[in-house]
Amino acid sequence: MSFQIVQTQILNKETSLETRVNQYLAAIKATKDFNVFIEVFEKEALDKAKALDAKIQKGEGVGRLCGMVVSIKDVLCVKGKEVTAASKMLKGFESLFTATAIQRLLDEDAIIIGRVHCDEFAMGSSNENSVYGPVKNPIAPNLVPGGSSGGSAAAVALDTCDISIGSDTGGSVRQPAAFCGVKGFKPSYGRISRYGLIAYASSFDQIGILGKDTDAMRMVLQVMEGADDWDATCIDFPNSPSSFDKETKIAWMPDLVNHPGMDPDIKKETLDAIHAIKAAGYQVEEVEFPYIDYVIPTYYIVTTGEASTNLSRYDGIRYGYHHQGADSLEALYTGNRTEGFGKEVKRRIMLGTFVLSAGHYDAFFGKAQKVRGLLKRKMEEILSEYPVIISPVSPVRPWQIGEKLTDPVSVYLADIYTVLANLCGIPAISIPLNKAESPFAALQLMGPKGADHNLLALSENWEAIL
Ligand code: GLN
Repeated sequence: MSFQIVQTQILNKETSLETRVNQYLAAIKATKDFNVFIEVFEKEALDKAKALDAKIQKGEGVGRLCGMVVSIKDVLCVKGKEVTAASKMLKGFESLFTATAIQRLLDEDAIIIGRVHCDEFAMGSSNENSVYGPVKNPIAPNLVPGGSSGGSAAAVALDTCDISIGSDTGGSVRQPAAFCGVKGFKPSYGRISRYGLIAYASSFDQIGILGKDTDAMRMVLQVMEGADDWDATCIDFPNSPSSFDKETKIAWMPDLVNHPGMDPDIKKETLDAIHAIKAAGYQVEEVEFPYIDYVIPTYYIVTTGEASTNLSRYDGIRYGYHHQGADSLEALYTGNRTEGFGKEVKRRIMLGTFVLSAGHYDAFFGKAQKVRGLLKRKMEEILSEYPVIISPVSPVRPWQIGEKLTDPVSVYLADIYTVLANLCGIPAISIPLNKAESPFAALQLMGPKGADHNLLALSENWEAIL
């Protein structure tokens, strides 16, 4: 049922918010084996539901998101609540303030039902890099749910909330959405404040929205977006360009779809989807993208560089994991960071430190920044003529839990279609194709910076076609 209908029922007192929250709490308990929630905010959620029900009974006004039940990825701060980024480093750490995006949801009377799993510091594609163990895929529990917002995607797929708030540095909202059969939206860089979002790679990170109902996702975006004094990179975007319709030129790139790493079934589903869009009367054309092989190296050089500096703050001195029994200051720092961080995070800190180091900066980080500029200019050129680009989300289907733990490079390579949007700061959405034979196939739409609402609307129009 669409959120608008549910909200109307609540406001008309046909059902109560307390009943709704209790249903979600029951669903969370019933799906415990999937290992989705780290913490359930049961008391706060019920208290707020009752308070809102009482307001509605008295005919008092309520916020725009009254009735919306939201889960949040464990990288978003809520004052007085633990936030750990799924890391031993931060276990027991309590937020001192609430993230701007989450505060805006609360101010409009959304209910936060709990904190969900993710990959450690949002680094990963499978939700296996976590101090809390892996999350299971709701469609096939022996498979990974994707990552790093795997808990968010699973939470939505398992109907434990209306919306989950994740973060997307290189696909972490869109890829798990595809793997779990839900929608995932990454807004333009700078549309939503990053204040209170634990940083991975600051020039890529963006808060994203996972859900099933596009209308609910749009409402949440409208509430969270907009300039914030606490994040200088966050701005008010001008109104989106005129909406996308059948006159809009749409591009697809054979260089992406025919890439050698592509799973044949996903390729077939992508081509079928392109065909269906054409058949519905849209103008879809082939466009060349000669730089596809630069996308993954550029992403992993720049993000690891940024991550190594962002994560240097975790020394375990004033807060965070504290190693016992060190006999020197150096041994204490080393112990804190060696034991506090997981394997993947340490791998990236080392890679990042290397690409930033004096002897290698020009050859790696400096060069990758230039290639990022090149990719951005090429995408801007294409988007000025074709305001929508369609592509696959992931070249591969979800793998078995544990299958790729010793092969991180193959996991990195599977980010090929999603990282482009973050390298360029543009919005992108993953739409599940919901094919019975191929439940993990999804289509990605990318658009020009600022065209977030147009992209959401188009994805909704295409639901029937796809
Ligand atoms: N899988 C990508 C990575 O590990 C994306 C992660 C993300 O978007 N947070 O870097």
